[in-house]
Amino acid sequence: MKSGGASRQPLIAGNWKMYKTAGEGAEFIRALASSLGRLADRQVIVAPAFVGLAHAVEAAKGSGIGVAAQDVFWEKEGPYTGEVSAAMLADLGVKAVIIGHSERRRLFGETDTGVKNKVRATLDCGLLPIVCVGETEGEREEGRTEEVLARQIHTGLAAVRPEEAAQVVIAYEPVWAIGTGKTATPETAEEAMAFVRGQVAARLGESAARTVRILYGGSVRPDNVDMLMDQPDIDGALVGGASLALESFVRIVRFQRRRGSDG
Ligand code: PEP
Repeated sequence: MKSGGASRQPLIAGNWKMYKTAGEGAEFIRALASSLGRLADRQVIVAPAFVGLAHAVEAAKGSGIGVAAQDVFWEKEGPYTGEVSAAMLADLGVKAVIIGHSERRRLFGETDTGVKNKVRATLDCGLLPIVCVGETEGEREEGRTEEVLARQIHTGLAAVRPEEAAQVVIAYEPVWAIGTGKTATPETAEEAMAFVRGQVAARLGESAARTVRILYGGSVRPDNVDMLMDQPDIDGALVGGASLALESFVRIVRFQRRRGSDG
């Protein structure tokens, strides 16, 4: 389907994983805000660990920088030791939640059904889900990339209504490119992301697919972000390692596109 990206605001999100104390995160956000100033044409989000969220929200006040959590549990409340609900995150001033990151799928048993439940709970609390999908190296070598992406999209978005597409972000992150220094070429990323958009169209309709934002993630750096952002289906980036250092993250946020804004 034709991408038609005119109305999709670019989004750069930094996933800090299990790095930075609460104080370090807050300091980083203050420095980021003063380096960036107010950016009208793009959205910036950082995702600290749970313990850093309150400090991060405080540090980001008035800057336009949004704060995301790296996970959430789908129940509203109850005897779920160690878990955090979407309502608790919303109450803190968090704006978004990364859901189904490949590290959570691989190391902590996250399933597509869990992703579906978390996406619903996140939307119900007015937060932006950033839903991660992507194939492993083995799945790509076996020619199963599309099968894996289709399954992750159809189950992960099963509880989303078509009119909610503008409040949903998908991050296509080929697992073999995360934290490895191996980036998908812009063409490989575009091919997979056009496929993802097609699956959103199949699940939620063409208008939803034109509205939903799709980020690329996997070793995004200052030297490759512009090329990636030139692709018609790439609406932004989910950045791990390069979001930890101010200089590289600022450069990534300041990506430049040579293509027109209509994709
Ligand atoms: C990520 O953690 O989502 C990620 C894309 O990491 P990196 O940029 O380090 O590959």
